[in-house]
Amino acid sequence: MHSRQEQSTPELALQVLQTRFGYENFRGEQEEVICHIIDGGDALVLMPTGGGKSLCYQIPSLIRPGIGIVISPLIALMQDQVDALRQLGIRAAFLNSTLQYADVLQIEQQLRANTIDLLYIAPERLMTERFQQLLQQIQIALFAIDEAHCVSQWGHDFRPEYIQLSILHERFPEIPRIALTATADRITHQEIAEKLALTEARHFISSFDRPNIQYKVMVKDNPKAQLLDFLRNEHHNDAGIVYCLSRKNVEKTAEWLCEKGYRALPYHAGLTHQVRQDNQRRFLQEDKIIIVATVAFGMGIDKPDVRFVAHLNLPKSLEAYYQETGRAGRDGQKSTAWMVYNLADVVLLRKMMAESEADEAHKRMEQSKLDSLLAFCETHRCRRQVLLGYFDENLEDPCNNCDTCLETVETIDGTVLAQKALSCIFRTGQRFGAGHLIDVLLGKNNDRVERLGHDQISTFGIGSELTGKEWKSLFRQLIASGFISVDLEGYGGFMLTAKSKEILKGTQEFRLRKDPTPKRIFPKKSDKKSTLFKNPKAQQLWEALRKLRLEIAREQRVPPYIIFNDATLREMVQCCPQTLGEMINITGIGEAKLERYGRDFLDVLSQFDEFHGLQEHELPSSKKLAPQPTPRGELSPPVLEAVALIRQGWTVEQVAQQRGLPVATIIGHLSIAIESKELRLSQVTSLTEEEVQLIKESFDSHSHETSYQLKSVFDSLQQKYDYSTLKLVRSHILSEVK
Ligand code: ADP
Ligand code: ZN
Repeated sequence: MHSRQEQSTPELALQVLQTRFGYENFRGEQEEVICHIIDGGDALVLMPTGGGKSLCYQIPSLIRPGIGIVISPLIALMQDQVDALRQLGIRAAFLNSTLQYADVLQIEQQLRANTIDLLYIAPERLMTERFQQLLQQIQIALFAIDEAHCVSQWGHDFRPEYIQLSILHERFPEIPRIALTATADRITHQEIAEKLALTEARHFISSFDRPNIQYKVMVKDNPKAQLLDFLRNEHHNDAGIVYCLSRKNVEKTAEWLCEKGYRALPYHAGLTHQVRQDNQRRFLQEDKIIIVATVAFGMGIDKPDVRFVAHLNLPKSLEAYYQETGRAGRDGQKSTAWMVYNLADVVLLRKMMAESEADEAHKRMEQSKLDSLLAFCETHRCRRQVLLGYFDENLEDPCNNCDTCLETVETIDGTVLAQKALSCIFRTGQRFGAGHLIDVLLGKNNDRVERLGHDQISTFGIGSELTGKEWKSLFRQLIASGFISVDLEGYGGFMLTAKSKEILKGTQEFRLRKDPTPKRIFPKKSDKKSTLFKNPKAQQLWEALRKLRLEIAREQRVPPYIIFNDATLREMVQCCPQTLGEMINITGIGEAKLERYGRDFLDVLSQFDEFHGLQEHELPSSKKLAPQPTPRGELSPPVLEAVALIRQGWTVEQVAQQRGLPVATIIGHLSIAIESKELRLSQVTSLTEEEVQLIKESFDSHSHETSYQLKSVFDSLQQKYDYSTLKLVRSHILSEVK
């Protein structure tokens, strides 16, 4: 089907992007990478999560002759990726240890027959003698090495089998290889290139900025109330992850969120495998689930519509922070990385680090990583600039999408205040934590102060210009920037450091950041919850489309985002297409999905036709409907092919088998053919006149519903006719009114 005559490589690639994937344009370096691979080059691709790495090997696999072999260490994700591709009418399969032997044999046979476009495989299986032999017998389009940082022995995800992947180059020198990772640091990059013999390959390095993620970091005061406030105001109806440090806290927070009406599930290593798996599955497959987890959760979670990641405790380093927050917004839609922390967190981390049993060099490294994280928390500069700067990337202008950009942080000269705090530490013998020191500074005559004689020392009562809370903030900032250390014996006493002498001598200035006061805690019950669309009718349409998506997803046992992602639904609300011709213009709707779901979604959209073409003002990013009454005057080749086979007397199942496509796709083709009178209903089904009439009446009586009409018809007919049959009859009804 891919004629390469007359079309240049970029034209061909764009055509596949638009017709198969339903996307208008390439993003970032996708086009360059794809063309480079199609033309036979090797590539090493560093792109952030959500950058669109998969297309970089999927499109070349479709265009180059032969099968694209994708090596992936994450068995749990293979099913998802293969499901997603099949939805697009692409012939994909996976080989891993979860398969039965019979299935393995069948896939091997399909590989030999070249009836697969893409094969996902685990590295250990790829390296088996059996599979290496098979590879010699088939035509290979390319090798894609996903999660390529797994070759790095220093990383957390090291996989010994990855080292052996360099033999692909020796055995198949002619086949292009593409290695991909979202791990940014230079050392890993270098290591991947060397270990996978990709030093000669072209390196494509993208910016690691995630512009759709809004960063917000604030002082922890009443964490539960702050979290609730955040959810109510910004993510009331969304899926997200809440990270906590301890298992106990995970459980407590999840319970509390449930009490408040959210669908929250716990996830930590202390739960049974079964519970963890169930909760993870619900997170992926249901709508609006919040996972409350320790860091044990996240690896291998590819859910694209995670709208927020909330940290109730500080992570260990900026690398960890970037990775954890990076799980938000893979789909490029607006998302939030929200974090609260306080003095106790800072003290705890400093203490843990001091007590660590690691060798000196390692300790120093951990120490400096923590310093960078704390500096990020306390910064009054643009957070994105600080974060990217840490990864050696320079962001020219402040981002305008982080808390410090959106609300200027006030700083004052805090040198004298810092001197008071430091000398109070010194005068009390470098043994006490913030609580006692603040009592002394504020001149509190309590038992402890008097017993220790601290009401007699020179720093007693010299700090009345700040409140207790403000002193806490100052101590936190002094610890964060290394002017105070936390004692080694583990009592949490504060001590002076070499750096603090500079402040005491007056040779070093200290800027004190004023903690912004949280605006509102606990909106009243009557307060409006956050909604995506301001217009209530648009919001209603959005909810209706989501409901339909969820029902279709359930029926097919796949996660909702595999049907359509949020970006696609959002655009449907904005443009409200009323015909299949307009629908194909929506981002994320290619030919296969149009055929399979276009009609179902049009049914819902037709109830909101007052929005048709009017919604450009709703959201600035919307694209206008191109005036395009019918995208393709005639039927597409796959539809014609299916029609031809049916006319020859094949059954739908046989056609699906022969084309290597799911039955649902073939039903989509046949529906289009029936709707345009190319085929009669009786050529595909054996329904009697009476049955057709009965189904027709049911459609009539459900024609004004805003949810899944097919499902209502299905239920009202006592589930006697399957969805495929109903779809075909619906097309028959539509053909009659044409
Ligand atoms: P990565 O593997 O780099 O994390 P994915 O390949 O999963 O990212 O892509 C992230 C999301 O962006 C997916 O939902 C994908 O469909 C979407 N996407 C990728 N490329 C494009 C594009 N050119 N136009 C629109 N959406 C895209
Ligand atoms: Zn910013």
